[in-house]
Amino acid sequence: MLLQNGRIIDSANNLDCIGDVLIEHGVVAQISQTPIDFDGDTIDCTDCIISPGLIDIHVHFREPSNGKHEETIETGCASAIAGGFTTVCTMPNTTPAIDTPELVIQSIETANAIGLCRVLPTACATLERKGEQIAPIAELVAAGAIAITDDGDVVEDDAMMQAVLEQCREHNVPFMQHCQDPKETLGGVMNAGKVQQELGYGPWPRSAEESVIARDIGLNETIGASWHAQHLSSGGSVTLIREAQERTLPISGEASPHHLLLTDEACKKIGTMAKMNPPLREKHDIALIKEGIVDGTITILATDHAPHPLATKELPFADASFGIVGLDCALALYARALLADNTIDWPHMLAMMTVQPASLINRQDLGQLRVGDKADITIIDPNCQWTIQSEEFSSRARNCPFDGWDVSCKAIATIYGGKIVFEALGSRIARCENTQ
Ligand SMILES: [Zn+2]
Repeated sequence: MLLQNGRIIDSANNLDCIGDVLIEHGVVAQISQTPIDFDGDTIDCTDCIISPGLIDIHVHFREPSNGKHEETIETGCASAIAGGFTTVCTMPNTTPAIDTPELVIQSIETANAIGLCRVLPTACATLERKGEQIAPIAELVAAGAIAITDDGDVVEDDAMMQAVLEQCREHNVPFMQHCQDPKETLGGVMNAGKVQQELGYGPWPRSAEESVIARDIGLNETIGASWHAQHLSSGGSVTLIREAQERTLPISGEASPHHLLLTDEACKKIGTMAKMNPPLREKHDIALIKEGIVDGTITILATDHAPHPLATKELPFADASFGIVGLDCALALYARALLADNTIDWPHMLAMMTVQPASLINRQDLGQLRVGDKADITIIDPNCQWTIQSEEFSSRARNCPFDGWDVSCKAIATIYGGKIVFEALGSRIARCENTQ
């Protein structure tokens, strides 16, 4: 298969040029700035971007689920490829939680049998995510867990956190922290501030996030594990991470579409669809998160794709579930948040969705476009105007606060291991009858 005349962006290798990419036997066979002569299927990529397959290191696919089926690995993967993602890291807060090697292997095998995209499961830091007994981290990593996290909950106890970080360093696996001190968020459902006081809902202060980051940086100072802050919401968190990085500590962080595009005002306008964990903050938080992205403090974009049945969103604000789905529309939302106002450019944004997440999870074989690499490729039309309509999502869930938003960028083909797993190419694709 030949991808013709696209803007090839491979941030890892400083490549940004117009050219062709040839895929043969599932791998990238040739990258050329002059047209490649090829007798087979072709995709006209004129005015489109050819990128390494997008990676999302933070998704919830809810399988195993104990019969609830808010999402499955299959519907989650379908949602991922519709959004241009070829690799996702699933969070272990399933039912049961992913805290045994068998459950890690089961996730990988289920995803492999489906074959739509690469699923790299994370596994628990503590048994059942209860924070009481450390999980068998060595065995979980040996089984294929790509990172360790109790996401959904923080690892609260200092001694436990220290033990987990030591294990993560020993087994060369990143730890991903859900930064929420539960003592500060009791009854909290939205950002502590003016809007929250007006609405009369329980307050969730920024310090609940920042205090965990500060504590973990302190604990990790002498351990030196790879420590990653999930879904940053507070501007103060960015400052803490920047200061730690200046002392060359291996600390990283991720930003999510909703924390870049929405503020706590949304809780007033769209109610529970704006209920998130951590909560939507204020304009100055968005400005500081963007500053962190520009100066390289925040290196990763991740959705925190969190499917919930609509019934659990159609409850009073205090009782509704936290979170939204993100995979189907994330790319367009990042483009709106970061490219529309020239915060960063395409190569920088794609680095945050390809080589940077790959590097965090120690998968240097992913997130790049080199001859010989597995052909995981996303073709992006950066000028495709469309309206986000959650009822058209491939995800099973519909909890999306961006419903009805007009956006202007779309993944039009997702190629996983050399195979087109999703496409909206129209007449851009020409299939050759001589090839299979
Ligand atoms: Zn979380």
